Amino acid sequence: GFKCGIVGLPNVGKSTLFNALTKTAAAQAANYPFCTIEPNTGEVAVPDARLFDIAKIATSKEIVPTRINFVDIAGLVRGASQGEGLGNQFLANIREVDAIVHVLRCFEDDDITHVEGKIDPVSDAETVETELMLSDLESLERRITQMRKRATGNDKEAKLLLPMMEDALKLLQDSKPVRLLLDGIAAEDLKILKSLNLLTSKPVLYVCNVAEDHAAEGNEHSAAVEKMAAEQGARSVLISAAIEAEIAQLDDEEAKEYMETMGLEEPGLDRLIREGYTLLNLITFFTAGPKEARAWTVKKGSKAPQAAGEIHTDFEKGFIRAQTIAFDDYISLGGETAAKEAGKARDEGKEYVVHDGDVMLFKFNV
Ligand code: GDP
Repeated sequence: GFKCGIVGLPNVGKSTLFNALTKTAAAQAANYPFCTIEPNTGEVAVPDARLFDIAKIATSKEIVPTRINFVDIAGLVRGASQGEGLGNQFLANIREVDAIVHVLRCFEDDDITHVEGKIDPVSDAETVETELMLSDLESLERRITQMRKRATGNDKEAKLLLPMMEDALKLLQDSKPVRLLLDGIAAEDLKILKSLNLLTSKPVLYVCNVAEDHAAEGNEHSAAVEKMAAEQGARSVLISAAIEAEIAQLDDEEAKEYMETMGLEEPGLDRLIREGYTLLNLITFFTAGPKEARAWTVKKGSKAPQAAGEIHTDFEKGFIRAQTIAFDDYISLGGETAAKEAGKARDEGKEYVVHDGDVMLFKFNV
């Protein structure tokens, strides 16, 4: 599955947040048996109101959401790239994830030590980013000399990889993260960039962890983070880990009341999970019938056979075509039969690029 790694300096609220996520996952597991929990990985359902709308129309007995993973990556301290703390282990763990959720301490609490001595989330973000950039710089410099030689010797792979490596190196030498290359990147280039497996090439979401009474509006620290994120073309979410930990222990009714008193419309975790999903560059398509309504995940840009393959590998191999109804049509017309009558059930072939929200039915050979 797709993985978001939760990183941040010590004492910023990572574990609190992760525990709330896994508690939520555990609660979900009662309804969705496939939501598994491992020590440092939580598989959580992606909240999506559209699925419930579809299930209502299709009179589906079961509702099965799609899910993503969050991984708790502890152990980052200043000097990690030099092997401080759990440095190497930490960096190896980041390599395994598809995107980074970077938790920043935006709450004041004199009882809880801040490793850098003061609350300054923008400077904390820079500390973490610097470690990641140093690690990337070292790893690239190690590889690039040989790659340059191979490219002069007309080595095909080297000629393909080298330009991207040079671009990445230039950024890092300029103290900039490699993810700046992601903006508007072509699919083939993205593949090359990913194959370099650089830590700062992964997309980042900043999480501003604020105190309970700042959960709705934020504070000066979270405002500073939002500004920084905007400058980087990154996104940020406002969350109070303490509130989320509380909500995770309540039943639905109690949680609703509690959120009301806190001025929240939904759990911050729901927003976090959705933002994580977007960060991973994923989209959702649906299948709907009387047995179940189900949400499925594919990478943005995937074609119909790949979507079919999410359901079963045989569906992909034997793919013939996909009956496709846009979500809005499915809802406004009132389901599959009506959509067909209105000519809104399209027959799509192998080259069809799946849209977010498509309700699909696959025809295949076995
Ligand atoms: P980690 O080291 O980043 O995993 O941080 P923890 O989740 O262990 O949190 C460190 C300490 O900060 C714990 O004592 C938490 O209870 C506390 N903490 C986390 N979030 C908040 C918050 O929003 N407000 C306050 N006051 N304390 C928090």
